[in-house]
Amino acid sequence: MSIVELARPEIRALRAYAAAEQVDDTVRLNANESPETALAGRFRRPRNRYPEVRPRALQSRLAGRFGCRDDQLLVTRGSSEAIDLIIRTFCRPGVDSVLVPSPSFSMYRHYAAIQGAQVVELAASAAHNFAIDADRMVAACRSDTRLIFLCSPNNPTGTLLPREALERLLAARGGASAVVVDEAYVEFAGVPSAADLLERYPNLLVLRTLSKALGFAGARCGAVIAQAPVIRLLDAVQAPYALSTPVVECVEDALDDALCADAIVARVVAERERLTAALQRYAFVSRIWPSSANFLLVRVDDAAAVMRHCADSGVLLRYFGGDLSDCIRISVGSRDENDRLLGALDRLAEQDNG
Ligand code: PMP
Repeated sequence: MSIVELARPEIRALRAYAAAEQVDDTVRLNANESPETALAGRFRRPRNRYPEVRPRALQSRLAGRFGCRDDQLLVTRGSSEAIDLIIRTFCRPGVDSVLVPSPSFSMYRHYAAIQGAQVVELAASAAHNFAIDADRMVAACRSDTRLIFLCSPNNPTGTLLPREALERLLAARGGASAVVVDEAYVEFAGVPSAADLLERYPNLLVLRTLSKALGFAGARCGAVIAQAPVIRLLDAVQAPYALSTPVVECVEDALDDALCADAIVARVVAERERLTAALQRYAFVSRIWPSSANFLLVRVDDAAAVMRHCADSGVLLRYFGGDLSDCIRISVGSRDENDRLLGALDRLAEQDNG
């Protein structure tokens, strides 16, 4: 069965929104736009005009960057929007389910709940570095499992999903489930994107974002990569004019800028290793999981006390509770920011000793 047939019937029947035509060097009296605008002349593209329904030039640049054809990529408002679009496209409320490993990124569950899709969680074991067992994953699939979300490197554990495991899962599910690989942090792992598996596995979708390695979380820009028929479905669901003119200009400028992802990634990875070594010295730190991302999951004696102490020193960390109630997640910051954290932890260690 083609993966397109897994989509909700009403979405398969949907045609893309018919937007007002946009043709260069014409008088545009077809979109009820204003002939005037504040701040006229300040920007490359006039603000009184609607943006392109889809930002084609940006789409093409991102496709080049992420290694796919133009028609295999949809530009989204962060990868968060892509998660929402995918769930809305494939899951019938009250009928279909989504399989996610646990712990993982909470937005899969959040958007599934909004759509009324059931979430089935498969626990990964802390003792095995939260590795995903592809066979257990396949065994956990049910007849209503429309989507499987895998995050690699995984948030919040930093675990990388081996390519063999991904391929086993893709092959085993075939046309029965779409498999979404969220690569928000892949640049920090130094491994290739799974996008090159697209031709072999029509049930693969890959999520990318400019929020992490490119340092552009504020712009809200990401992408979903899949075979063209799947992209056409998601395109029909996404709002017309989703990417605003200021965002498109700002992202194009960012991609032009010399401060490229490679430089940011190299600094963050070096700091990740420095932080790992420094954290190991504290008696109250009992475990640091190996991370392929820009954060560390750390087990501590008293997570609440560490959180509180760091917050009092002006350093915010992330606490999840549940199965991770003795853990904190630390994002790798700049050298100065990490030194602020280590200074706070030094003071906590002194209190413990005193
Ligand atoms: N996926 C993962 C795994 C994330 O951790 C995040 C953000 N924390 C996102 C997707 C969403 O990022 P954005 O919407 O900024 O692309």
